[in-house]
Amino acid sequence: METSADPHHLEGIDREALRARYRAEREKRLRPDGNDQYIEPTGRFAHFLEDPYVERVDRKPRSADVTVAVIGGGFAGLVTGARLKEAGVDDVVLIEGGGDVGGAWYWNRYPGAMCDTAAMIYLPLLEETGHMPTRKYTFAPEIFGHARRIAEHFGLYEHALFSTEVTGLEWDSSASRWIVRTDRGDELRARFVTMGTGPLHRPKLPGIPGIETFDGHSFHTSRWDYAYTGGNPAGAPMVGLADKRVGIIGTGATAVQCIPHLARDAGELFVFQRTPSSIDVRNNQVIDPEWFATLEPGWQAAWLANFAILQTGGFADEDLVHDGWTDISQRIRDRVVADMGEGAFGPEAFRRAYEDSDDEKMTEIRARVDAIVEDPATAGALMPWYRQLCKRPCFHDEYLQAYNEPGVHLVDTDGRGVERIDASGVWVAGVHYPLDCLIFASGFEVGTDYTRRSGFEVVGRDGTTLSEHWADGMQTLHGLHVHGFPNLFVVGPGQAANLISNITHNLTEAATTIALVVARALQLGAAEVEVSDEAEQAWVELLEEADQTLLADPDCTPGYYNNEGRPLGRRERLNGARYPLGPVAYFEFIDNWRRSGEFEGLEFRVTVPMA
Ligand code: NDP
Repeated sequence: METSADPHHLEGIDREALRARYRAEREKRLRPDGNDQYIEPTGRFAHFLEDPYVERVDRKPRSADVTVAVIGGGFAGLVTGARLKEAGVDDVVLIEGGGDVGGAWYWNRYPGAMCDTAAMIYLPLLEETGHMPTRKYTFAPEIFGHARRIAEHFGLYEHALFSTEVTGLEWDSSASRWIVRTDRGDELRARFVTMGTGPLHRPKLPGIPGIETFDGHSFHTSRWDYAYTGGNPAGAPMVGLADKRVGIIGTGATAVQCIPHLARDAGELFVFQRTPSSIDVRNNQVIDPEWFATLEPGWQAAWLANFAILQTGGFADEDLVHDGWTDISQRIRDRVVADMGEGAFGPEAFRRAYEDSDDEKMTEIRARVDAIVEDPATAGALMPWYRQLCKRPCFHDEYLQAYNEPGVHLVDTDGRGVERIDASGVWVAGVHYPLDCLIFASGFEVGTDYTRRSGFEVVGRDGTTLSEHWADGMQTLHGLHVHGFPNLFVVGPGQAANLISNITHNLTEAATTIALVVARALQLGAAEVEVSDEAEQAWVELLEEADQTLLADPDCTPGYYNNEGRPLGRRERLNGARYPLGPVAYFEFIDNWRRSGEFEGLEFRVTVPMA
């Protein structure tokens, strides 16, 4: 491929050669087993799920009537609980598998963990709780601390059940109550239930032959074993690794953040790579308290709106967040506008503009690897050959530099993955790498069934399970309400705005809607609130109009963003669906829906007809 000296100068890019390279790299990675290549940490792998942070203390089973049971103590559950409390619903019981609130941020305490979305918009309820983020991008301990702050501020610790897994949820039609059962023997009869069970807490392991035979020490990044490594989540030196040969499998967003710390502290580090991540500039900064004090009340809503607009191709006078996410979309937008000036319109013109700006960005990203990594072979192997949005874009200013450390070895598997694991180490291309410690940065259950991720089934009215109702893909109104499952609310980004660059924005919007609906039901004395079949179907039809073709991009390397490169069926499309007019339009739509006071699509039933 020829490139000009100036990466901004697209004329120097041989597009045909680039496309051919992208396809060749994708071909190497395509596997017939797709998502099935991963194994669940159950049975002999169950220890990978154990909570290393708190001890499970025995307690008596709880039996109680509650107004709202909130399943999941991550940001989904916390913002829902907070909005319910604000609406005057006091009797809220949080149920959480971890030993505290925080969800993904409870589990993920690996060194260097931080959020790629700017703290000013990612951390929810900053104005309500009076917190100022310390940096533009905050590290995990501060995010976990903020989760705890929300729980404290809104009284959500009261009644909360931690280290408690829900095992089943069943609708009792005779009493219009949900029966919530847990692995502690609890039985709660809840008038309403919210489910914020998220995708990033259930680790998955690569199904590499021999994985069960490894005799050294091993753990998943979401259960970091500081007792073995030494150090702490704040980044103190991991003295336990000083004389160790450490291997890490995976080079996704998690690995990118912890590898610089391992490079610093391990005797020797072997990074086993299947696909390199794209690493753009991080440019983190400390937040100035004097500047923060000048922000007017209502600032966070304004920042959220500004980011959502710019991140999805809209226009605003100012880019308040000004980061890699808004940069990606403004490049595409500006190119579309420039092309329109030259008379190019329509979806084809948009696709062309998207491809051009992406080619430009990825050329820059590959040039950055070349400029930072000293060894040319290592630099070559670290260059990503796919479009930036095929995988999660990463932003870091120490990751690439880590490969210049003398004890750090990149073991590139050329898209094939680790060959096998044995008692003493890892094999790649016929070479054995002896290891003392093997860390799995192999990600989480994302594209799998919700029961596999949440660990429980939901049995609705008439005995239908949620798995049955969703056998052909998710079916909801606004991603929240499910027909046949009264008084239940699903809290997540899907089938609504689906703004993945700032997940918590989706969650606070959902929480605001839930609090309003619950307050309304209580005010009416309604025993049940449920979406009508017609309203649910109409919403699903609307979602199916949306163009999901970028997800199915033939130039995309496989990953969980695109069903591991396998064709998207109706089920996958529905599970990943978003409001056709985009996130900003959705936020406006749902705001109007709430303001109208009509609760269109929902049925409030004060008296329930006998079956
Ligand atoms: P990912 O699923 O993104 O990465 C898993 C890694 O394991 C990939 O590099 C994958 O390779 C590799 N892998 C899997 N199987 C094998 C194998 N057999 N041999 C070798 N390598 C293998 O998980 P992460 O934990 O990195 O990230 C998960 C998500 O968590 C992110 O996408 C993001 O949404 C979120 N996250 C967010 C952060 C934030 O700042 N907000 C920070 C960290 C994570 P391949 O790429 O080829 O599949």
